[in-house]
Amino acid sequence: MRILVLGAGFGGLELTTTLAEEFGGELEITLIDKTESFVFGFSKLDVMFGRVTEEHVKHQYADFVKPGVKFVQAEITRIDGAARRVETSAGEFEADILVVGLGADLDCSVTPGLATGANEFYTEAGAFAMREKIAAFGGGNVVIGVISAPFKCPPAPSETALLMHDQLVKSGLRDTSTISLVMPFGRPIPPSPDASAALLEAFAQRDISWRPQTAIVSVDDARGVATTEDGTEIPYDLFLGVPHHRAPAVVLASDISENGWIPVDPLTLETPIDGVYAVGDVAAVGTPRAGVFAEGQAKAAAASIAARIRGEASDTKYDGHGVCYLEFGEEQVGMVDVTFFGEDKTATLTGPSEQYVADKTEFGTSRIKRWFGNDWVAT
Ligand SMILES: Cc1cc2nc3c(=O)[nH]c(=O)nc-3n(C[C@H](O)[C@H](O)[C@H](O)COP(=O)(O)OP(=O)(O)OC[C@H]3O[C@@H](n4cnc5c(N)ncnc54)[C@H](O)[C@@H]3O)c2cc1C
Repeated sequence: MRILVLGAGFGGLELTTTLAEEFGGELEITLIDKTESFVFGFSKLDVMFGRVTEEHVKHQYADFVKPGVKFVQAEITRIDGAARRVETSAGEFEADILVVGLGADLDCSVTPGLATGANEFYTEAGAFAMREKIAAFGGGNVVIGVISAPFKCPPAPSETALLMHDQLVKSGLRDTSTISLVMPFGRPIPPSPDASAALLEAFAQRDISWRPQTAIVSVDDARGVATTEDGTEIPYDLFLGVPHHRAPAVVLASDISENGWIPVDPLTLETPIDGVYAVGDVAAVGTPRAGVFAEGQAKAAAASIAARIRGEASDTKYDGHGVCYLEFGEEQVGMVDVTFFGEDKTATLTGPSEQYVADKTEFGTSRIKRWFGNDWVAT
């Protein structure tokens, strides 16, 4: 049985690991990704704020060694869902089961003045370059701006505002600086009223200006202004943007996308095409775009695929459950426990406290051990 997994991100790594564990070398699994290493989303913030180096957060796919699994570093250039076939820079691949975990791409082109690696912090290049900008920043107006929804990891812009506060305090620049968080929604984390309330309190305590229901339509680094939908200009000396998200172009051009993403049965992660699954940020599941949800979806899809291989009925249903750690700064982390599907829908915040700092570290350490077999501590 040939399984083709597109994308070695949170979803692809977990799904491949689960199937390899369950079937040993019985399956022929090919995992394809265009990059040579995996980086956790939260590591981008760690690098940006100078906690660790870029090298420390890159996990090489060469270390992803599992029975029956072949990793291919290649760009996927065409997907034919119906034929379960893909074209890549390393040739064609065909499978009995195709799993798409290609994540969300970041599209700066819809926002004039926003540029990858320059004034955004969501790509690897952007976050890593921001490290130098933040280190060299001499004080002034800092603006963190989310362009549109959906975007990955709803807490990340708020975390960035709080960590920026710490950074400026540490460098003695807080009194001569302002921090503003601009979002086109009513609360900082739309799915969690609980966590949003705690964040608004933290912003107020730290004099971080919260500008809800405000959409930024362009930025101009030369003039140092971000312009909102109604023409208001927000001055900045340092802009940290969250670009517009969309499915990768190769997905949009294929027969597996619909309305901009890949439609799936949220309980099984099956697409309408037989033998084709989609997990993580690229799939329209109804959960926020975040690694924990991609991982949960990967587990559910793997269970469904395993049952299919054995010719059994699968009773595994994805429950939309995830635990997100939220950096409040000042060495405090909160824990948001979210369940999206089923009867017990919750989105509660516990903490922030020091205890969750250790839990967040363990979250990263355990995944790197499981996927890459390496010992690693995030910071
Ligand atoms: C600043 C920041 C902080 C975050 N913090 C957290 C957090 O604390 N907790 C959390 O759960 N989530 C967090 N996230 C979100 C998390 O990183 C993503 O939601 C998660 O990685 C999604 O997993 P995925 O498998 O769907 O996609 P990804 O992990 O994005 O993986 C997709 C893979 O597909 C590959 N790919 C794409 N197109 C092609 C192509 N054409 N050919 C070949 N390969 C291709 C990419 O190289 C990539 O490796 C954060 C994100 C950011 C930006």
